[in-house]
Amino acid sequence: MNADSEAPRADTPTQHDQHGRWPQAASVEDFRRNLAAVRERIAAACRRAGRDPAGVRLLPVSKTVDEARIRLAYQAGCRFLGENKLQEAARKWEAMSDLADLKWSIIGHLQTNKAKLVARFAAEFQALDSPRVAEALDRRLQAEGRALDVFVQVNTSGEASKYGLHPDDVQDFLRQMRAYSALRVRGLMTLALFSAEAERVRRCFVLLRTLRDRLRQDAPAGIGLDELSMGMSGDYEIAIEEGATVVRVGQAIFGARSTPDAYYWPTADPQPAS
Ligand SMILES: *Cc1c(COP(=O)(O)O)cnc(C)c1O
Repeated sequence: MNADSEAPRADTPTQHDQHGRWPQAASVEDFRRNLAAVRERIAAACRRAGRDPAGVRLLPVSKTVDEARIRLAYQAGCRFLGENKLQEAARKWEAMSDLADLKWSIIGHLQTNKAKLVARFAAEFQALDSPRVAEALDRRLQAEGRALDVFVQVNTSGEASKYGLHPDDVQDFLRQMRAYSALRVRGLMTLALFSAEAERVRRCFVLLRTLRDRLRQDAPAGIGLDELSMGMSGDYEIAIEEGATVVRVGQAIFGARSTPDAYYWPTADPQPAS
């Protein structure tokens, strides 16, 4: 593939125009095709950015998808799935415990009183943004005798409706994390502005990367900042151009959701703001 044939990176559009239109995957073949299409776009974004595609993990997001379709995705090769709501994830984990190598990543906001459940079954938690949750999680994990990979969620869009720490508060937060030996901090996570204007979306990703680069210079011992979880169906290509190591992709793999985004991040616009 000739790098010159790729669009200049700054012009990469969002795919938000697909929002609500992604076709439903209803067979193993559908899933294979969707996964291949997303991987091809990941590879193309990596070429534009001069990156190795092996440095980008695709995390399929299966929220609202029922067990039967998740089993099809499993047959198509999915072994690690992201879920926003803990209760829904726990239900699926129990229902599909026969799939011994299927792992679950919790990517949505967590209440302190649910820490015990996360500690029991989650393989990863990507939405850590409060010392109280960190403390509760660590205590529960110590009791279970296990450790958990976590990402610190940062609010890069400045929208009050988004969860995550203010960028200025991340450094102090990371220092506090040293006390919690069962939490293995792997990096930062964010949700970009939901906008059809690619440049405004890109700014969120640039903010997360530059914050990570700055913090990594004097990160506390034991705090890893190699990972950047950013990008979803509508904007993962831009996120990869800006350094994403994990992209969380739901609708482009599973199909459009009927549940509005406002259910997951309160007061989000139903349509992309422009
Ligand atoms: C649902 C969700 C995603 C994936 O969104 P899609 O539009 O389905 O790709 C990514 N991150 C978080 C936190 C989510 O809740």
